[in-house]
Amino acid sequence: MAKKLFIKTHGCQMNVYDSARMADVLAPLGYARTETPDDADMVIINTCHIREKAAEKVFSELGHWRIRKHAAQARGGDVTIAVAGCVAQAEGKELVNRAPFVDLVVGSQAYHQLPELLARAERARVKGTGGRGILATDFPPDSKFDHLPDEISVAPGPVGYLAVQEGCDKFCTFCVVPYTRGAEYSRPAAAILREADRLVATGVQEIALLGQNVNAWHGEGPDGKSWSLGRLLRVLNDRFAKTHPHLRWRYTTSHPREMDDELIAAHADVAGLMPFLHLPIQAGSDSVLKAMNRGHRAEDYLRVVEKLRVARPDIALSGDFITGFPGESDADFEQTLKIVREARFAAGYSFKYSNRPGTPGSLMGRQVPDAVSSERLHALQALLQDLSGDFNRACEGRELDVLFQKPGRQSGQLIGYSQYMQAIYVADPMLKIGDRLPVTITGGYANSLAGEIVRREAA
Ligand code: SAM
Ligand code: SF4
Repeated sequence: MAKKLFIKTHGCQMNVYDSARMADVLAPLGYARTETPDDADMVIINTCHIREKAAEKVFSELGHWRIRKHAAQARGGDVTIAVAGCVAQAEGKELVNRAPFVDLVVGSQAYHQLPELLARAERARVKGTGGRGILATDFPPDSKFDHLPDEISVAPGPVGYLAVQEGCDKFCTFCVVPYTRGAEYSRPAAAILREADRLVATGVQEIALLGQNVNAWHGEGPDGKSWSLGRLLRVLNDRFAKTHPHLRWRYTTSHPREMDDELIAAHADVAGLMPFLHLPIQAGSDSVLKAMNRGHRAEDYLRVVEKLRVARPDIALSGDFITGFPGESDADFEQTLKIVREARFAAGYSFKYSNRPGTPGSLMGRQVPDAVSSERLHALQALLQDLSGDFNRACEGRELDVLFQKPGRQSGQLIGYSQYMQAIYVADPMLKIGDRLPVTITGGYANSLAGEIVRREAA
């Protein structure tokens, strides 16, 4: 009988991808992924370390799993508990000490070793020397991608994630990613094309290329030369243009410094590339950007936006923002509000600065009081809501290309995403997850839109 594997995924889309790949690694060992934790034989908590709150969640969650494990053991069984991802990478030793009931702690570059680690845990259990977590957090010299299986064990549904790049060499002073994910690595184009073939064969209709710095991708092409992301997108689009003309593409997350002309040109003429870009800026003040080590000024960002809008006039932009970075004054924060208005973001994700141990930001003087960061966050969020409301209202009466992906809150309602990555709610008894249809927008609000199906044929 198949053993059941429950994976709880926290954090970014890269973690969603990693969770799927961990399931692929464990499938040959007889583990089938389940969405219900109750009957799991193994649980993997795939963690996020980006902000303090995200990291702290892991320890409270582990408390529940300890109780489940002990209950299973009392019945003569067991639940294998693994902690994976960025908290495992950054705080592996502390995890093993603080939560000794955890069987495996697997860093972000080591999860291809799961079968071997499980076998070690099993041997320890048989010998009665279990009870201490096995720690695998070294950065192996070769890429984990070379050791992951080809097979996709569970079809991803309408949207497929494909990691093309990992890690970061940018060292923004607030960010843990360069430490938890390691140095920048670009997968070769041939491996990406093969993985795209497999995803398309499962029936996905949208593929998101992923990387912590996805547009810094510079993988080796089949011609032995270094390719850029713009070229990769063009090749991917052409590869499926005849067989799957409706496939749509996006990429995330990008750094403003890496938006080269080839990539911007792709927004003008790669037919399947969605008119949407998530391009974090973090702050609008040049002195804050400098202290963050972002390597660009506000004006550089606006120039990129201008070029993107020339290439693709209807492009929808979203961004990430941090309020209360050390030393940020009221005047600095005003610059953030200014650039948000100037760049006319269609959506945005804003966070209060979270002091992360080990980053240069954590050692900086002039930390901003929490109340000030919160107040700025609220002001920024209000502005971002206004702008997304404007963008969404301007879509009223338009027909958007919507891919339906999950159930809505009301019965008979589904949520789909437009080509601009807006969430669209439609109630229609005929509608199914995976439908891709033109939808007429009947209402545009700050966080979502309402729509009606126009006709039942592919967009
Ligand atoms: N690589 C992307 C970039 O260049 O901006 C972002 C990756 S990070 C996983 C996602 C977002 O988390 C960042 O854009 C930033 O806004 C936020 N973030 C990262 N570290 C943070 C911190 N210490 N405090 C608050 N927000 C943070
Ligand atoms: Fe973190 Fe900066 Fe790298 Fe983005 S570019 S992952 S924010 S260090």
